Amino acid sequence: MESVSGEKGVKELLEEGTPIEYLEGDGDNTLIARLKSNLNLTMKKRFDRNHVVKNIGKRLYMLHGEKGVKLSKNVIVHIQKCLKYVFAKNQSDDTGMKENLRAIIPHQFGDHSLCQPRFCGYKRKPGSLYSHRSLPYKAPLKDNNLRSRLESIFQPIISNAEQYSDLGSSQQCEHANREVHYSAHTKAGLSPGVHTIRYAEKCAKSRKRSSDLSQLPSTKRRRLILKQERATTQGAQEALEGVSYQSGIGHEQDIDIEKIPDAVPRGDFKLVTYIQHDKPTLVMVDLETTDLIRGSIIPHITQISAVDYDSGDTFDQYVVPKMPITTTAQQVTGIVICGSNLTVNGSPVQSLPIKETLERFLFHREKARNIRSLDVLISSSVCKAATAKNIAGSGLNLSRLQRIYSRDGEDGLQNTFTVKNSEGQPRVTSSKRVLETVIPKLADFLKKRE
Ligand SMILES: [Zn+2]
Repeated sequence: MESVSGEKGVKELLEEGTPIEYLEGDGDNTLIARLKSNLNLTMKKRFDRNHVVKNIGKRLYMLHGEKGVKLSKNVIVHIQKCLKYVFAKNQSDDTGMKENLRAIIPHQFGDHSLCQPRFCGYKRKPGSLYSHRSLPYKAPLKDNNLRSRLESIFQPIISNAEQYSDLGSSQQCEHANREVHYSAHTKAGLSPGVHTIRYAEKCAKSRKRSSDLSQLPSTKRRRLILKQERATTQGAQEALEGVSYQSGIGHEQDIDIEKIPDAVPRGDFKLVTYIQHDKPTLVMVDLETTDLIRGSIIPHITQISAVDYDSGDTFDQYVVPKMPITTTAQQVTGIVICGSNLTVNGSPVQSLPIKETLERFLFHREKARNIRSLDVLISSSVCKAATAKNIAGSGLNLSRLQRIYSRDGEDGLQNTFTVKNSEGQPRVTSSKRVLETVIPKLADFLKKRE
């Protein structure tokens, strides 16, 4: 609290006739001194619980930052939690407060001689194995040097234990602040009318709901877990990036900001199993790319070439990449982006986007697999080569056509040829002229083969 506004507040309260006994705060003595000298008032001081825990935390984090001291953030959070717990459970109990404060640090080091069963699982079940749930490896701390440093931080609190057995909490102030905040702002011209009352009721309801929820043990547990997760992420970030993200770090010299790069993906390679019972064909595929794989950056494809070892059928297509081609890759492959097209060793070539290229490649593979069984349709002049290629590319061969015909006749063929694939294109063709000439002839041909 600012001492000037604090003094003003006290003065106003006294003028109204409100008696003041205690002053609650963070142990800041300026206001007390001000009241003494300006208003000739002697006030009793009362610590705010959150401020005490925070101040201890500050000293622990300073210790954490020292070289050669191994005090992790998780342990600090745990010690603060213990302190809060001791404060909460020993209000108006001077001796209990003193004893418990004294036991906090030795307990973390596995020394339970000062512990009380009320707070110590080891004392509650003597003889059984006790694990420190919140400490690293669930084991007590070991460093004796650290223990004496921690004990010296706690010493002033222990010797002033009585001061803490009547702790205030600024939470009530916060509550009052909110009450004021949510009431109608009459000075701004709002009168407590139908709308403001209804709005205030709505706010009060949601406030009650969230405060009830925040008091549930499950919510408290979740809060602790989240806090720990934050500490872990921050720890990992610190390990990978140095301390560059900390606020105010720019004022310091010799900052460690070397960033350790992201993990290189391991790749997810799986065994391919053949769905069909046909003999597998061996296809060799060769890719040209914009660069080599560097860290987590996967380069783009600039050319796909493939050859089928059995039939000698080939596929070759240049692809327009969506990222620039490195100079080294340009020298190795001769492929250069020129506007929206590619040139190879200076001469322009036909190139396609990657999606279209892969569709063509798959179509080409299907076609190569099926086309030979359809040669008979061309030679019997049922259809022309272009239509046969379309039929083959759509994953149909002669035996499949035969099956469709035996199941559903001419209608089956018609429906199969015109049905839309996932790209919204007809499976074979939607041309009325082609369908009218090919389907009856095909049906005739298949009927004879049955
Ligand atoms: Zn203990």
